[in-house]
Order: sequence, then structure tokens, then C-alpha cells
Amino acid sequence: MLLQNASQVLTFRERIPPDQMIVENGTVAIDHGRIVGVGKTEELRGKFEASEILDATGKIVTPGLIDCHTHLVFAGSRERELDMRMAGFSYMDMLKSGGGILRTMYDTRASSKDRLVQQGKRVLDGMVVHGTTTVEAKSGYGLTVEDELKILRAVRDLDGQHPVDIVPTFMGAHAIPPEHEDTPNEYVKLVTGEMIPQVAANRLAQFCDVFCDKGVFSVEQAREILLAGRQYGLLSKIHADEFSDIGASRLAIELGAVSAEHLLHTSRESLIRLARAGVVPVLLPAASLTLMENRFSDAKALLENGLHFAVASDFNPSCPTESLQFVLTLLCFGMKVPVVEGLRALTLTAAKALRRERDLGSIELGKMADLVVFDVSDYRFLLQHLGANLVSHVIKSGAVVVDDGKLVKAGG
Ligand SMILES: [Zn+2]
Repeated sequence: MLLQNASQVLTFRERIPPDQMIVENGTVAIDHGRIVGVGKTEELRGKFEASEILDATGKIVTPGLIDCHTHLVFAGSRERELDMRMAGFSYMDMLKSGGGILRTMYDTRASSKDRLVQQGKRVLDGMVVHGTTTVEAKSGYGLTVEDELKILRAVRDLDGQHPVDIVPTFMGAHAIPPEHEDTPNEYVKLVTGEMIPQVAANRLAQFCDVFCDKGVFSVEQAREILLAGRQYGLLSKIHADEFSDIGASRLAIELGAVSAEHLLHTSRESLIRLARAGVVPVLLPAASLTLMENRFSDAKALLENGLHFAVASDFNPSCPTESLQFVLTLLCFGMKVPVVEGLRALTLTAAKALRRERDLGSIELGKMADLVVFDVSDYRFLLQHLGANLVSHVIKSGAVVVDDGKLVKAGG
């Protein structure tokens, strides 16, 4: 297949001068789901015999967007909490009164796996129409052995049924369930001694994540859980410094975590240290917005030091957005990040946060043909039309899955 005549192809190829990163009047050649050619249309003309041609005149092409932090699978919804939140109840107030994560936990425990799959499928359909081709999905609304396994099995079913690829993360340490309110260390033992071994034995996750913050899991508990995960081959991720800095980002460095996420209360120095140590910072501006925290992470500090970060939706019941274009808007306007760096955060660096950069995240020879065509003639227009879905086509592993803005291949 040839995707040709695009006004710009943003390749995000590494180790090339930044001015060559954007190919004007570009074409991408695809064979057997992989990228076999990328360059100027006139240079590629005649080099390939295409059975299918997609004309992208007046449009731009980017790598498929990667949502590297979501809580995709859960039951129920939380609209009833909105008035309380607007009245000033904090996230931790809601959690202590049995709301927030715990509300969703009750609904998820009561739900069958098939219902979770149905709800998740609707979300994935929305995501792919907005240009997302790979999604990370965390468990963490079950908080019992059986319910955590149920969520991860729903994730596996979704991955098999839907064109979007899903990277599964075990996050039994998302909250302390009410039955262990007074015995949190017993719950940690359940996570390390039963959940992690069973998740690993059933090959249900690639990563292990912990919500390390005041009132949730301490640094010591998080260390114990992440080390147990590592023993079973689960790479570490950590929810760090979302509400307070208790040392979670330092723990991420100590353990060589793949990524540290949220980082709202991380100092400039700690943020730079984190990224220099090779931990991918994952910023979640939609979570800042919906929690009304009135602050964003210091993305500028990273860029000024030549460091990169990923950005993701944090899709969850209190932050339910399928649109990474909306997240891009928040990132760029909220943190004064140039659009091209915002797109890098949603593609190449997001792939690194999932350890998938060998296959995903940029448009270069040999990588998977996951591509988005946006109906704009210059990438900067992505911030010139707030709130609109500007996706015209999505190609997943070489197949067109969104055509003219419409989903064509759900359940394939
Ligand atoms: Zn999260």
C-alpha cells in the first residue's frame, strides 16, 4: 500500500537532524504490515508497485498515537461525584468516604468479565477513531485475586478482539480495599504472595504498577511490590508524586523503573534526575484538569535539558477521555510545549514507556505500519481547532481501520 502525497509526514526518526524529521510532500510505503519506504513522493514514485493507494493530499501523516497510561477496564461510571468534586471535596476525601476508586471497585467486582469486555470495547472504538493504535491498560479496580485476574482476562480478550493493541499492566496496588483498611500490610502480602504469582503464571501482564502516595502505598510497600513483580518478570511502573512527593520518583530511579507517571509534585531537579536516569516521565494533563489541581508537570524543564517525556490520557472513570488530541491541547497550552514535542510524547516516547520502541512510535523502515492521517495541511493546525477530531484515516499494522473518520474494522 502507498500512502502518498501527504503535505507533511512527521517521522520521529531518531538520530537524524530535526529539520529532516518532517518530510514535506511525503509518501509511506507499506508491505505485510510493516513500513518499507518513507520519503518524498517524487523520490519514491516508481519504486513500489502498489495494490492499494491512499491519497493524502492536503493532509499530514504521523505515527499511530500510543496511549501509554490508561485504566481501560472497569464497570459503572462516576457522574454522581461531579457535584461533590465541584463543591471542593478532594480526591482523598472521596476515597475515604468509599467513593472514587472504591466506588468503581464495587461496580467492577459485581460485573462479569463479558460485561467488562463490552464496556472496554466501546472505549477502544472511541480511541481508535481519535487516532490511538496502541493502549496500555492497567488492572486495579478488583483488589481481590479473582477480580484482578478477571480484569486482566478482559484486557486479554479485548486485545484479541480489537484492532488496537493492548499492553497489560497489573496494578493490584491501586488502592487499599476496605476489607484491609486496618491491615494494609496484609493486603501488600496478598498482592506479592498471591496476585503477582498468579498474574505471571497466566501470562496476564507485562508491567507491575503501584500507586505510591500519601494515604495509599508507602515507598517501602511500593518497593516490596515492585520487587516481587520483578522476580516474576514484570517490569516496573509507578504512579509517583501525584498528590505529594513522598519519594516515589526516587524509588523509580532506585529500581530502574521503565516509567514514572503523573509527577505533578516532582521538583524540577528531581524530574531532570529521573529522566537522566533513563526512567520515562509520563505526564497526564487530563488528570490534572479533572482533579482541578491547578497545576501541570514541569515539561519545560525536561525539554530545556534535551530530555523527553511521554504523555497519556489516564483514561479512567474520573477522567474519561478517548482523545489524545484533547490531551495534546492540554499539554501544549498548559505546559507551553511545542506541538512537535507534544506529538513526540504521544508516539516515540510513549513507545519507550511501554518498551515497544523497536516496533512502534516512529515512521521508519521495518517498524509496524501504525499510522494516522489528520485532515490538516500542517501539524500546527492540530492546535488551531480545539476540541475537534481531526483524524481522517487510521492504519493499524498496514490495514485501514478508520476510513474518512469512520471505524471500518471493529472486532477484526
Ligand atoms: Zn493512573
